[in-house]
Amino acid sequence: MTQGMIGALCRAGFESECGQELMAVAAEAGLFGYFQSSRNSGWVLLLLPDPQQARTLMSRVNWEQLVFAREWFLGLALVSLPESDRVSAVLEALKEESTRGQGPLGPFSRLEIQVPDSDRVSGDVQQFARKWTAPLSRALRQSGRLVEDSESPRLDLVLSDFDEVFMGLTFPGNRSPYLGGIPRLRMPASAPSRSTLKLEEAWKLFIPEDQWLSTLGNGAQAVDLGAAPGGWTWQLVEQGMMVHAVDNGPMDPALMASGHVTHVQEDAFSWRPRRAVDWLVCDIADKPARVTALMGLWLTQGLCRHCLFNLKLPMKQRWETWLECRERLEQTLRKAGLRYRIRARHLYHDREEITCYVQRLD
Ligand code: SAM
Repeated sequence: MTQGMIGALCRAGFESECGQELMAVAAEAGLFGYFQSSRNSGWVLLLLPDPQQARTLMSRVNWEQLVFAREWFLGLALVSLPESDRVSAVLEALKEESTRGQGPLGPFSRLEIQVPDSDRVSGDVQQFARKWTAPLSRALRQSGRLVEDSESPRLDLVLSDFDEVFMGLTFPGNRSPYLGGIPRLRMPASAPSRSTLKLEEAWKLFIPEDQWLSTLGNGAQAVDLGAAPGGWTWQLVEQGMMVHAVDNGPMDPALMASGHVTHVQEDAFSWRPRRAVDWLVCDIADKPARVTALMGLWLTQGLCRHCLFNLKLPMKQRWETWLECRERLEQTLRKAGLRYRIRARHLYHDREEITCYVQRLD
């Protein structure tokens, strides 16, 4: 391969946002590339002038900084697949790339074969991808390219059809903790809405496991703006929090019976708590700029330490909208002299929205 290549998986329909994001992080690192994708494929390729630039980008940017890319891969090659003996085609391509790079490629910690999360990938391809892992892993192990070593890069193949496979690497500490960026969460039977999974996924991504108790436990107090019917409130209560649930809509009766929830039937944009709380969460479907401004107010007025909210993105200019909201929020926080950490992600359980988390550090 003479060009540099980064591959990325995203939600189908968000290829353009994911591509723009990859171009933007490349530009910030002083690298200039362009992206290729087809609509609703769930897959994006960023092309850079040479392979070294793709490596540089991966070494300078961490997956955690990305919002729309569920997973990303350092591209090694696009391998044409024959109708039979596809295992040998991959081994051959690895050999070729090793020669080109003037050094052995591997060993790899393991092999994963993934398909983009898109209706456009046929069931046959999905089935083949599942079945292909065992024989290909065996062949890689026999050729000494697969070792038990969690520090080594993982070899990832991304398959959209039977003609060609993308061959790439992911690196420990710079990839999604979930295969393909998709966490397999079980819907809790007593949670009042499927939205509950968004908050669970967000916490799993944004808060390291060893900080859950100090951040979410210890009798924390929370406010949930736009709470009804209570999927997010359910998660807060599950952590033992006392919650003010602000919404004119009805809350789930079983959740109210927990004794942990006060239902406040008021407008979330004007209501404020008497005392500061640990957590503010907000799942109101309103203009992103309006929600961002509200979050900025709560943070700068010292009304919460942790703030987790959804931004419903418009059909067009979703990338630009996110950039504007982030810029405005950062400006507000900087002006107030606050130290903070911002994370944002288009979660697997999000649809037309992204989930943002701001933690005050002072
Ligand atoms: N997070 C909730 C859950 O997990 O069940 C779902 C929230 S739903 C997507 C959005 C909620 O925001 C609706 O229940 C709606 O009534 C509420 N909402 C919209 N505008 C509001 C406002 N200005 N004040 C209070 N609630 C509002």
